[in-house]
Amino acid sequence: MTFNIGVIRGDGIGPEIVTEAIKVLDAVGKKFGHEFNYTEILMGGCSIDATGEPLTDEAIAAAKASDAVLMGSIGGNTSTSPWYKLPADKRPEAGLLKLRKSLNLFANLRPAYLYEELKEACPLREDIIGDGFDMMIMRELTGGLYFGERSTKEENGQLVARDSLTYSETEIRRIAKRGFDIAMKRRKKVTSVDKANVLDSSRLWRKIVEEVALDYPEVKYEHMLVDNCAMQLVKDPGQFDVILTENMFGDILSDEASMVTGSIGMLSSASLNDTKFGLYEPSGGSAPDIAGKGIANPIATILSAAMMLRYSFDLDKEADAIESAVKQVLKDGYRTIDIMPQEAEKRGEVTQVGTGAMGDLIISRI
Ligand code: NAD
Repeated sequence: MTFNIGVIRGDGIGPEIVTEAIKVLDAVGKKFGHEFNYTEILMGGCSIDATGEPLTDEAIAAAKASDAVLMGSIGGNTSTSPWYKLPADKRPEAGLLKLRKSLNLFANLRPAYLYEELKEACPLREDIIGDGFDMMIMRELTGGLYFGERSTKEENGQLVARDSLTYSETEIRRIAKRGFDIAMKRRKKVTSVDKANVLDSSRLWRKIVEEVALDYPEVKYEHMLVDNCAMQLVKDPGQFDVILTENMFGDILSDEASMVTGSIGMLSSASLNDTKFGLYEPSGGSAPDIAGKGIANPIATILSAAMMLRYSFDLDKEADAIESAVKQVLKDGYRTIDIMPQEAEKRGEVTQVGTGAMGDLIISRI
């Protein structure tokens, strides 16, 4: 099959890590008989330098015309880069917000997976880690508290601030469906997280999730209050498969879940709309401190490409091949600098490699 992929290399380490992901995609294409065509799209600081804008209308049109977009990262050093002397709507990050909005990317997916070989980077106790964990946080991205009406007014001689949390049935239903669809591709369990003991928006969330669940009889689901979920993530993370939740709860829980996995260089992500289209990117930023040194970890971007194969192209066995190759490389003792063990004796057991070598090692195991 042929797929058209928009490619945003971006700034800092972006171009280096995207190069490796494309190398891996091409290897998968060769092995499984697919053709991946790439369209380069400018966004972020490099777009500002070339066009004066962080994201042009042509770039948005190119992204829309693609089957999916693979992105590195955008932005520079926020203290020293001239990009950060520009007005807020002209800075690199404004490009990403505009792209998410233009493409209606309402569902954010962030996996939190603990690799056996990187267990020492996990801050949890060995008995809590148990057999490890493998969960997916599905966060609503375009509604709720962050997009509600807000105000700060003087009332009775003091300032009063208000933020409103609004969700419609349609917004809840579309993200819930996405969550159950993803669960069908995994271990078929959904934990829907809310605060239904207090919030009306959470009670509606629960009602709609229960309605959607009727269409997925194979998926086991449960409701969990957000305060309990925050505790369970560090008490027994192995219990979770898909965590489905609204915008603010997801913002906090996804950071908590990713913290317990270890390095930022391993964390992939996807943002989806109600078609098969998705924007796939590593969770980390452009890491200007290590840009151009050839030492950045490309694995998060390579795993983001695997997510693209699974969720936008329905190429599950091809995605499996990438994920298994990554596990094998770690098992074989190869590490980029960010995932090198701290202890000297353990350092002797593994080999440090750069960005390009890590990409090659993964390809040789596909
Ligand atoms: P960062 O994630 O870029 O870096 C934080 C630390 O993690 C740094 O020490 C960096 O070297 C390290 N790191 C990140 N990715 C790595 C990788 N793949 N391999 C090895 N080490 C890695 O966060 P920051 O320094 O706060 O932000 C830098 C720039 O990135 C800013 O301009 C910020 O706005 C931007 N940013 C962009 C995105 C995005 O493109 N979606 C996300 C977050 C931050």
